[in-house]
Amino acid sequence: MANEPTITTLLKEGRTFKPSAAFAKAAHVGSAKAWEALRKAAAKDPVRFWEARARELRWEKPWSKALDWKFPFAKWFVGGKLNASVNCLDRHLDGPRANKAALIWEGEPGDTRTLTYRQLHREVCVFANALTALGVKAGDRVAVYMPMVPEAAVAMLAIARLGAAHSVVFAGFSSEALRDRILDADARFVVTADGGWRKGAVVPLKAAVDEALAQCPAVQKVVVLRRTGQGVSMKEGRDVWWHDAAAGMPARHRAAAHDAENPLFILYTSGSTGKPKGVLHTTGGYLTHAAYTCRLVFDLKEDDVFWCTADVGWVTGHSYVVYGPLANGATVLMYEGAPMTPGPDRFWEMIARHRVTVFYTAPTAIRAFVRLGAGHPDRHDLSSLRLLGTVGEPINPEAWLWYHKTIGGGRCPIVDTWWQTETGGIMISPLPGATPAKPGSATKPLPGIEAAVVDRQGRPAAKGAGGLLVVRRPWPGMLRTIYGAPERYREQYFSQVPGCYFTGDGARLDADGYFWVLGRVDDVINVAGHRLSTMEIESALVGHPKVAEAAVVGHPDDLKGQGITAFVTLQSGAAAGPDVVDELKGAVAKAIGAIARPDRIRFADALPKTRSGKIMRRLLRDVAAGVESKGDTTTLEDFSALARLRAPQEE
Ligand code: ATP
Ligand code: MG
Repeated sequence: MANEPTITTLLKEGRTFKPSAAFAKAAHVGSAKAWEALRKAAAKDPVRFWEARARELRWEKPWSKALDWKFPFAKWFVGGKLNASVNCLDRHLDGPRANKAALIWEGEPGDTRTLTYRQLHREVCVFANALTALGVKAGDRVAVYMPMVPEAAVAMLAIARLGAAHSVVFAGFSSEALRDRILDADARFVVTADGGWRKGAVVPLKAAVDEALAQCPAVQKVVVLRRTGQGVSMKEGRDVWWHDAAAGMPARHRAAAHDAENPLFILYTSGSTGKPKGVLHTTGGYLTHAAYTCRLVFDLKEDDVFWCTADVGWVTGHSYVVYGPLANGATVLMYEGAPMTPGPDRFWEMIARHRVTVFYTAPTAIRAFVRLGAGHPDRHDLSSLRLLGTVGEPINPEAWLWYHKTIGGGRCPIVDTWWQTETGGIMISPLPGATPAKPGSATKPLPGIEAAVVDRQGRPAAKGAGGLLVVRRPWPGMLRTIYGAPERYREQYFSQVPGCYFTGDGARLDADGYFWVLGRVDDVINVAGHRLSTMEIESALVGHPKVAEAAVVGHPDDLKGQGITAFVTLQSGAAAGPDVVDELKGAVAKAIGAIARPDRIRFADALPKTRSGKIMRRLLRDVAAGVESKGDTTTLEDFSALARLRAPQEE
């Protein structure tokens, strides 16, 4: 396998955006020089660098060994003891942060609540006491199946406080998905709600829990929050209302210190590639990584209003709605509902009303907003924003530019943050006051992270050539294992490239050392021996003014091995037709070369996506090949989108 899978890279994106002098001046890391100094210190002695980051937390007992690395299993801060909940709450109560807003919450119907650090602490203590009374102990697993309400964060922090591990299951998942995750983690307790609001309707969460638990006999107690007020059935002896469990519980809770390597949570990845994996994170290393990255990447300041739109059901919601910002004593905006409810400008209206300063969302949302046009954001005062971020997929340069101009008013840096459920926190990202951005590139690994682009043997790929994205050294936030499946952990992440953590993604490095994530290696299309990145072809399509979104997959082709099928949704107002097909094929050939010219273009009104908004190319490959889909589809957002694509269409 000599020098095998390099990915042919074709896209050239030359634009660069520097942070303004004013932004840089106020930033935690405000110059290329300061960035370089940080990188150098970290490269010289990475473990010591991370120890210094860890010392920014409150430890009840110092660690005796910073890193214990027995390939591929890492332990960080061995012997140290801390409490994640204390770090997010109690330690802010001694000073001026005590009465600062920790959570500003807005429900989809428009109801709002604000919890100061003192109030949030109180709620967490009460609930920790309630959970204890129900029998939850350190070492247990507790499933959390909640809408985006403050109690979701309260539950996570209370479970963590007790030294139990939470397994948050996204509330949009079906009862089967919930059942599988409860069984896999052997969770004995479930925290849920009667329902939650989404797109103007109630999502009946308790009913889904009841269905799931019919096949989970080991579950002992279910705590049910009253959120929507609709009738639910309560099983005698098993189910208890949150308000009843909390009634009379003391608002004080003395938190025990837990081992740095005590499990903090299990989180199942979104499953865009198959069977969900229970990614296990532990306490000290994860919190160190989440807190450090949140402070530097989002340049958090005392008066920021930080809005990460992710649901707590995803890792982004764990690290940048709950643990990262709260460990930094920041003010978090939390929103329950859908982005387009009641109207397409809900987000912009909320940013204006809450004076949000830092906004972090997904490319899929941005592309949906692009499709609706600039009229909606333009009607709102977005001048409070000072920094924007993206996560979840590569962002197409055209969508980046729209975000920069239309939402950021041309003045806000954008941090394109590459990371994974497995990495615990951000790995590759600009530091907004120091790193010039290039649209479509996540720029450089953060100081302390040793990422590289290599071939199958682990040799560095040539500059400009595509290869495999790996991490060469352990880092504190890394997953410790796949729950209950250490061999799968080794096989999945540490067997493909010698000595390295393999991310599953392809990337290339440009002449400035910037990383361009090319999408998943599994999605690479092999056309007549050229391995093409889906991301590049998709970006070429999205660069066409009529295209809103594109997903590109390979289909079997006798001659070339694989041909290229592009699934395309058009901007509102644009009509499909044979001339558009020719235009789009031509646009790709022009932007990146004739080799990448799609053989087929199929128009769609929507693409199949995971619940976290990622395009499921695995399913589109089956559609393009005309075969039935096998494997897990429980994470699919909208089955009808897939069904419509399967219907015969003219090409
Ligand atoms: P599964 O592993 O179960 O298939 P998933 O990989 O979609 O699910 P996540 O851990 O949420 O689940 O997503 C991480 C992946 O998302 C990365 O490996 C990468 O492919 C993509 N990604 C995230 N952020 C970025 C980014 N800024 N640029 C490019 N790709 C990104
Ligand atoms: Mg993944």
